Amino acid sequence: MRYFRPAIRFRPIFMLSLLGLLIALGTGCETTTTYSNPYLQPPQTPAYPSQPSQSSSSTPSRPRSAPSKPKVVEGSMSYLGGPKGIIHEVGPLETVWRISKMYGVSADSIYSANGLKPGAWLKEGQRLTIPNARMLRHVVNLYRNSQWRYIIIHHTATWKGNAKALNASHGDRGFWNGLGYHFLIDNGTMGKGDGQIEMSPRWIRQQSGAHCKASGMNDRSIGIALVGNFNDETPTPNQLQSLNYLLKTLAAYYEIPSTNVLGHREVEGARTECPGRNVNLPSIRQSLAGTLPQKSSAR
Ligand SMILES: [Zn+2]
Repeated sequence: MRYFRPAIRFRPIFMLSLLGLLIALGTGCETTTTYSNPYLQPPQTPAYPSQPSQSSSSTPSRPRSAPSKPKVVEGSMSYLGGPKGIIHEVGPLETVWRISKMYGVSADSIYSANGLKPGAWLKEGQRLTIPNARMLRHVVNLYRNSQWRYIIIHHTATWKGNAKALNASHGDRGFWNGLGYHFLIDNGTMGKGDGQIEMSPRWIRQQSGAHCKASGMNDRSIGIALVGNFNDETPTPNQLQSLNYLLKTLAAYYEIPSTNVLGHREVEGARTECPGRNVNLPSIRQSLAGTLPQKSSAR
């Protein structure tokens, strides 16, 4: 008799546990509210933009400082390579929606390949498996903003880099809001594609730059940096093609003439060699001439 007592005491607890398990199974993921999986934990800053097709309550809300909903343009960039399974490290404010566009795969395939619940939050630095990634498309958000009258081209003066790493290092250097540029064009280092365009959080929030104090350009210009030190090396052909694509896209939308597309060193009052001696700025402008500015009908 004595030996049965513990078993009897345990039985109701066991039954309750079993009941709980059955309820959990029956209702699927709805019971997951504790975010025990770190990948499901919401980041400090909500991801943006939210996926347009998601209108359910799982859609993340916009950050308070977010600008109006952007127009999103995508460019087919066959020079960035063919299909392959890759690991993507999540950059600042990136969303599954944007990553899926970038690699030409469905958001669902990303969620399932990584064991994520659809609509799950991403963490900066999180590594995602992208099955059959094509890496053919740039995804660029365009926001209505009359602030942008110039585009300033920089180099990072480092031989490697990506938005996440530079966001952290600029933050360490006391730059207001991390990465000082609005866009980064990668060179194939630190897990990024050669010629891949990354939008910085500063662009997604439509904040002034921290890349060119001279002539008040931080408030008037869009800052684009190419990863590399172009006093020593030259930009890769992919980087130059992506730069051309980005300049054309931005200049057309914001009606910026090619004469307002400048290298950092060309800005009056700037004392720098940036974006490096090996960057031919007149030729970059020449490749834009005749195409800008366009009165974009989509504006
Ligand atoms: Zn510069």
